[in-house]
Amino acid sequence: MVVTDLTLLFDYDDTLQENQHDYSWPQLDFMKFVRGKFRTESPNGHLDYGEAQLFFAEYMLRALDFHAPDVQTMLKMVAEQHESLGGAKESFPDALQATYTTICEGAHITPNGVDIVSVLTLGKRVTPSQTRAPDVKTLIDLEASIDSARVKDLGFSKERFPGSLRLAYLAVCEQLGVTPDEADAREAYRIGTEAFDVDNYRRKGLLKGVPETLDYLADRGASMVLVTKGDREVQKNKLAATDVKRWFGDRMHIVPKKDAQVIHDVLEREGIQDYSSVWHVGNGLKSDVEPAISAGIGAIYIPRETWHFERSGAKRPENGARFIELKRFSDLRQVYDLL
Ligand SMILES: [Mg+2]
Repeated sequence: MVVTDLTLLFDYDDTLQENQHDYSWPQLDFMKFVRGKFRTESPNGHLDYGEAQLFFAEYMLRALDFHAPDVQTMLKMVAEQHESLGGAKESFPDALQATYTTICEGAHITPNGVDIVSVLTLGKRVTPSQTRAPDVKTLIDLEASIDSARVKDLGFSKERFPGSLRLAYLAVCEQLGVTPDEADAREAYRIGTEAFDVDNYRRKGLLKGVPETLDYLADRGASMVLVTKGDREVQKNKLAATDVKRWFGDRMHIVPKKDAQVIHDVLEREGIQDYSSVWHVGNGLKSDVEPAISAGIGAIYIPRETWHFERSGAKRPENGARFIELKRFSDLRQVYDLL
């Protein structure tokens, strides 16, 4: 083992593990649940618009993985495409296909023929029906606005998201003039807790190439520290479920936010004074690269920000900054000797 004085700080979410869609799945389940409560039967084998849109979003999450935007964005895109095509039933399949193609373009991936046939087929199954259930776009916008209003007071607390789903259910009942059912309100809350399902973290494991690469870096003698932002309990469960302790030991820091000051504090606690041999490895320009550069350490950027629409607005560091962009995590092996 060669000992170097190089220190690598690692981000966790979407750098070591895929967490992009932790909230997307419970959001879909929540909408299915609420719509199921207020739905009127539609003819055999046919879907109403809401069901078709939820199937579409689910299909995108499975087919495109982290390239798929969040659910709210996808539903908004479908609604806009459908409207721009005139909003008739006949144009709905084309609206789904156009949304799929736009997502692929944004993520720089080639649309796939099987996926196109699947979304067109899905779109053709739609039969508009009379239902009391709120349309899915209204539903997700309601949930998202309740949730983001609560961030101010509750931050990244574990209670926030499930509580927001419960409140969204209650708000729908009020809008429809229906007395809420306490058991249903509890179910809405429970669906929200799926976002923090430890078994799910364990099943997912770490991203491809991560364990081998961390082994390699450890063998090369790199000093490795983990710095992750979020709720203490939630992050602790994730780290335990994927056993990253074997690389980081007790050098794991859960921080409420990531900025220059927080990075300085972590480095001080780790007894590191020479910033010239420190690099931060993370997936986000705004959430990782910017804080690292402003803290005076190097930034290794492995993009994983869903798609470029979300990346727009985030700036790359100016020329001369200690900045390296890699395609995948395992490429750290190739650049290791240059750091
Ligand atoms: Mg991250």
